[in-house]
Amino acid sequence: ELSKRLAIVASYLPKKAFFADIGSDHAYLPVVVCSQDHAAKAIAGEINEGPFQSAKKQVEKQSLEEQIEVIKGDGLSVITNQPIKQLIIAGMGGGLIRTILDNGKDKLTTVDRIIVQPNVDAELVRIWFDQHDYVLTAEEIIKEDGHIYEILVADRQASSNPYQDKNKEYLFGPFLIREKNAAFIEKWESEQKKRERIIAQMQQAVDLDQEKIDRLKKEIVQIEEVLG
Ligand code: SAM
Repeated sequence: ELSKRLAIVASYLPKKAFFADIGSDHAYLPVVVCSQDHAAKAIAGEINEGPFQSAKKQVEKQSLEEQIEVIKGDGLSVITNQPIKQLIIAGMGGGLIRTILDNGKDKLTTVDRIIVQPNVDAELVRIWFDQHDYVLTAEEIIKEDGHIYEILVADRQASSNPYQDKNKEYLFGPFLIREKNAAFIEKWESEQKKRERIIAQMQQAVDLDQEKIDRLKKEIVQIEEVLG
């Protein structure tokens, strides 16, 4: 049984998927997907020994070694010759997700779908997709156990453009801003307060970073517009 968050991530995989789950931790997602679809195959990548061992243990416990290969390594380095079609990176900050994608660009030649769940800074991943021929095709925002999560899906060379105003939609998400569900509103109300707190703190500092203050103020204006 997956969390709602990971179940949504998994729902964007096709049947018979061949995917990599980078930063797989316990390999919960590949284990559930591959036990429900015996034609699915996965690579579970982990950089840290503890999670790597627990991923291996889970896969062995469910006797899924034929379908799931658990590999220790940094980001997309675990992809060598396997022609994976989908890539999942969930539960990390958008900055780290972007770094992993950027460092592993040459490993993406066979990948036609990327599914990410950035805990913060989803904007950085939207910008990366846009600059690398992956078109954002779906987004979801949900609340689970008191946390708000964004899930982004991008497809290579999908012949669509989700953006009307990138200046605004990189930050809020072109699909999310149109749907404006309860989780979205709650997130941006709290992001607005966060920015107000940061500005108040920054204005006490001796060496004022006026540029950052201005950027935060501009974002607050954008948030106010979006929330109406
Ligand atoms: N993907 C799972 C999820 O969404 O529930 C686990 C998320 S967990 C918070 C993040 C995992 O990413 C950790 O197990 C960590 O060891 C791993 N990780 C962090 N940086 C990584 C990298 N550069 N390459 C591979 N794994 C990484």
